[in-house]
Amino acid sequence: MRMLLEVEAEKMRYIPHLLNFKCGARALLTLYGRPSPLCQRCHTVGHIRMDCPGQFTVA
Ligand SMILES: [Zn+2]
Repeated sequence: MRMLLEVEAEKMRYIPHLLNFKCGARALLTLYGRPSPLCQRCHTVGHIRMDCPGQFTVA
């Protein structure tokens, strides 16, 4: 599932990382350039999976 979003940079922070639809479906949003990426590995905000330290420790 892919979604094309055109969002102003100032509004990126208000977009949730995980969208929950009423039908129960979920969509994980990955926006390039957003200030706080969500790691798909440990689900911690602040880094992406490629940079995941492999721990649940939050800096
Ligand atoms: Zn991580």
